[in-house]
Amino acid sequence: MSHRIIRILEKKLSRKTWDNWFTTLEIKEITGDKVIFKVGNLFVKDWLQSRYGKVIHRAIQEAIGKDLPFEIIYESPSKDAFEPEEYKGPLVKKKPLLLSELNPEYTFENFVVGPENRALFEVAQEIARSPGKFNPFFIYGGVGLGKTHMLQAIAHRIIELYPEKRVLYITSERFMNDMIEAIRGGSIRDFREQYRKKADVLLIDDIQFLIGKEGTQRELFHTFNELHDAGKQIIICSDRTPDELNGFPDRLISRFQMGMVMEIASPSKETRYKIAKRLAIRESVELPDDVAMELARRIDGNLRRLRGAIIKLIVQSGIYKEEIDLAFARQIIGSFQTDSPRVRALTEVDHLIKAVEKVMGVTREEIMGVSRTKNVVKARQLFIYILKQEYGKTVQEIAQLTGKKHSTVIHSIKKISNSVLRDNKYIKDLISEINNTVATDFAAS
Ligand code: ADP
Ligand code: MG
Repeated sequence: MSHRIIRILEKKLSRKTWDNWFTTLEIKEITGDKVIFKVGNLFVKDWLQSRYGKVIHRAIQEAIGKDLPFEIIYESPSKDAFEPEEYKGPLVKKKPLLLSELNPEYTFENFVVGPENRALFEVAQEIARSPGKFNPFFIYGGVGLGKTHMLQAIAHRIIELYPEKRVLYITSERFMNDMIEAIRGGSIRDFREQYRKKADVLLIDDIQFLIGKEGTQRELFHTFNELHDAGKQIIICSDRTPDELNGFPDRLISRFQMGMVMEIASPSKETRYKIAKRLAIRESVELPDDVAMELARRIDGNLRRLRGAIIKLIVQSGIYKEEIDLAFARQIIGSFQTDSPRVRALTEVDHLIKAVEKVMGVTREEIMGVSRTKNVVKARQLFIYILKQEYGKTVQEIAQLTGKKHSTVIHSIKKISNSVLRDNKYIKDLISEINNTVATDFAAS
């Protein structure tokens, strides 16, 4: 019999939402201060976390009478079913010292290499074979081109080859939050110890997040120097080149430039075709050639969008019990094929606009317009923030899409980010309610 939390969840959700997303969710463990769920699909995990956090919280509260935080972890179902604990190989096998969670799908094996990124791929593999050789390694490129995937692939490979090495992967945002927390809690020495003494390989994702955050940059500079001087490999990702990191101290920029700096390029249509096929296989689905070609043709650049379209295809084909063929694919990705880029972009985020309208009680015209009414301004800021956070849009893209000035877009993102960082419950609830509404409408459309 399933756990009470699961049964309550089932009651709270619509049949459709339940069937689409929740049937594989299980309780792994309930400790004194946390509920741990497990799920056998990474996409479902992300989706549940980002869209259904609120209702999961309510179910926990109702079931056990306490407002415990929860965590959802991914556990490969095949491993569970076929590899019971006793058969896991020799007992003395060293457990890799992983200091951070990595996405098991972000491997070199899953990284499709076209001519555009062949050199980068070779260097990355070489770095994994000989950590410290090109130090630091700095990868830059646009949103959704595979930076995080590449970074984690290097981490996975190093762990495989050198299980004794302590590999630490973090986003720079996490670095900053850990640091702030350590300062507040009076444990900055432990913090430094963890980063500077305990890591043999440090991978920092999205370093551009630290633009304008001088305190964190300074801390990072010391961490960097200490590790680098000790010959520890450092790998950094950014959406821009080192010298475009405005406001970073020159000494830090020049240290980044000392090693190997490489761009991750946008994949060609041929490469996108292969990536589409691989992304589908990651979801255990085989895409017909003509469908993959259509996707590669219609969706350029940002691979998160390509992945989003594939997931959408898979989910919808499941709901409608339709086969994924070219006609069905065209129908689903039709929203990517309108004439002007602005219209195309707007269609793509249509669900989000509707959700903001619904949750905030404002109209589309107000969101896109110039009204300074308090509630409208809030709605607009939330819309912009979610476009950035959930849809991976750049400031540039958001400015085009909304017809707002760059400075307005940046201000909105900052405003909401600050509220989130300060744990503003009102704003956080609005965000998750909007996301939930998108998910519900999305599943129903
Ligand atoms: P970035 O960090 O640059 O924004 P991500 O690493 O998050 O991009 O990549 C977005 C998605 O596209 C991920 O699901 C990733 O696995 C996938 N992806 C990116 N590049 C490739 C590639 N060359 N082959 C296969 N999948 C890729
Ligand atoms: Mg990334």
